[in-house]
Amino acid sequence: MEHPENSEEYKGLRVNDGVSEAPSVNPRFRRPARPHFTADDYVTGILSGDLVMLARAVTLVESRLEEHRKMAQEVIEKCLPHAGKSIRVGITGVPGSGKSTSIDTLGMHVIGEGHRLAVLAIDPSSEKTKGSILGDKTRMVELSKSDKAFIRPSPSAGSLGGVARKTRETIILCEAAGFDTIFVETVGVGQSETAVHSMVDFFLLIQLAGTGDELQGIKRGIMEMCDGIVINKADGDNVKKAELAATHFRNALHLFPAPESGWTPRVETYSGFYGINIDKVWNMVKEYSAHVRRNGYFTYNRNRQSKYWMRESINEALKNSFYNDPEIRKLLPTVEADVLSDKISSFAGASRLLDVYQKRSSGSKEVRVERAEGE
Ligand code: GDP
Repeated sequence: MEHPENSEEYKGLRVNDGVSEAPSVNPRFRRPARPHFTADDYVTGILSGDLVMLARAVTLVESRLEEHRKMAQEVIEKCLPHAGKSIRVGITGVPGSGKSTSIDTLGMHVIGEGHRLAVLAIDPSSEKTKGSILGDKTRMVELSKSDKAFIRPSPSAGSLGGVARKTRETIILCEAAGFDTIFVETVGVGQSETAVHSMVDFFLLIQLAGTGDELQGIKRGIMEMCDGIVINKADGDNVKKAELAATHFRNALHLFPAPESGWTPRVETYSGFYGINIDKVWNMVKEYSAHVRRNGYFTYNRNRQSKYWMRESINEALKNSFYNDPEIRKLLPTVEADVLSDKISSFAGASRLLDVYQKRSSGSKEVRVERAEGE
């Protein structure tokens, strides 16, 4: 480049060439090779309680890569005979109800009784928010310091079905690693409660005392699902209000038909922050567990859940196989347009597409469960 300062006539300082800028990344840096593990390495690690291997295996379960999924399935299958010996507790409540504070306190109480605790979460919305707010370690200060606790935030990709399946598989891995208590946290809005309910033994709803009409805001379906309702923040000036809310809930629960488990859902007040009555909350879970193990409902319910998840996997796999079929993808917009312009009914449109799909799948099409959720 011509600089006027460098001309013969100019008497001031000259402009030098300067030096070329060093690259911001060291070109000699080589990323250390990732350790390569076989399915048996994972299984041995998990069964010996190695938390690093457990975390790696969970990452495999959450991966979208086909080869990871295959490996994950093998690991899960080999862990399955060592899983199941736990109590699985679903915990739900609206944001701000005190889930993370309560899980931290309750979790430490459970660990204090000699148990090992895994905290998992289901939050399908985290796909949008990128990174879940549930099961976040920073929200569970004490637990995150304990070597008896394993905390894993919600898998962040995919449909609710996909996220739920991954969490269910993670439960198996955690149990095989020796965690005998599993908490699955979810936000008290939307459909994720149903998913959590279908993978736990005990479903706990955290509520707050407030305006006196708290019953209105909570969906009937959630009340019907829960085995226990706990009113949090029963501390300071709030104790009376919490007691009053508990009475409302107890009365409301009477109106529901008796649950299949033969257990009458209980209502307690407590304070997660101050640890008041936290033992009452946990005793409720223990009593429930003893009750349903005695009357056979525990095994009955787990078997029913296993069947449910198998069917769910089939449904998801079929759905994805259908929508990912190249012919269907091509035809779908045309048929949809025909439905919208009233040329054919919705049902006729559906049968036309299903016919095409059935003819194609009677060939050599394979429906793969591993790629089941349109992730
Ligand atoms: P989450 O959104 O359901 O996980 O709720 P958090 O655990 O983050 O709690 C929400 C807020 O309520 C925080 O400011 C907590 O400090 C507060 N909180 C939680 N538990 C209690 C409690 O037992 N008593 C009182 N007074 N505040 C609480």
